[in-house]
Amino acid sequence: MTMTSDINPTIPDPALWLHKVVRSYHQGEQTLSILDEADLAIWPGQSVALIAPSGAGKSTLLHLAGLLERPDQGEVYVGLEPTAEMEDEARTTLRRLQIGFVYQFHHLLPEFTAQENVMLPQMIRGLSKAEARTRSAQLLGYLGLDQRGTHRPSELSGGEQQRVAIARAIANGPRILLADEPTGNLDPKTADHVFTVLTQIVRATGLAALVATHNMDLAARMDRRVTLRDGKIVELE
Ligand code: ADP
Repeated sequence: MTMTSDINPTIPDPALWLHKVVRSYHQGEQTLSILDEADLAIWPGQSVALIAPSGAGKSTLLHLAGLLERPDQGEVYVGLEPTAEMEDEARTTLRRLQIGFVYQFHHLLPEFTAQENVMLPQMIRGLSKAEARTRSAQLLGYLGLDQRGTHRPSELSGGEQQRVAIARAIANGPRILLADEPTGNLDPKTADHVFTVLTQIVRATGLAALVATHNMDLAARMDRRVTLRDGKIVELE
């Protein structure tokens, strides 16, 4: 006989959950409200596009989600762990292990090879050089860069640089991937390719991804699309 619990599949916990997050900036007498009890939950394996005009608060949202800023009120849960009141050191550790960042510009270290750039975060976490090298080679291979490991960033194309940046962001097996216009600096064809790789990785590894983008074609290929309206996060469609 089938039990009820067998019929109702267990709903997994969100990897990232912003709950009633409030954030405003003060400039002299003026208060600029950016987020006003904003809510957003992202589940493992899910990619969410964040589409909003410049100045709407996308970077603020990504900084809060990435534990780079604290909310004025509300809570940011990383894997159900509340972080708003956490000590700085614990937040840094959590960020290092659970959150990967990809920016519009790759920010790879110019004097290191692609492989070394991917190895560094792993070695900072405490992995041996050999372990870090093995994982870096695997990641670069998965991203179609097996022939590029020994190249420095300046010897790579824009699309290759961004793929190395993605490998670096996921080197420590984070739960969450945050990206701010990751393909904004690339031509359409390259952007498309980098984006395909990014979404494949999100699904294959069960990452939860929040990607700020102006590119509607790319946003359309993600699982969900959200925007910011009057300080709230609103689902599009
Ligand atoms: P977006 O990434 O969507 O362009 P931001 O999150 O960078 O938007 O900024 C949202 C608004 O908050 C903008 O009007 C910006 O000028 C303002 N802002 C951002 N950071 C600060 C700050 N540290 N102090 C004051 N105002 C800020």
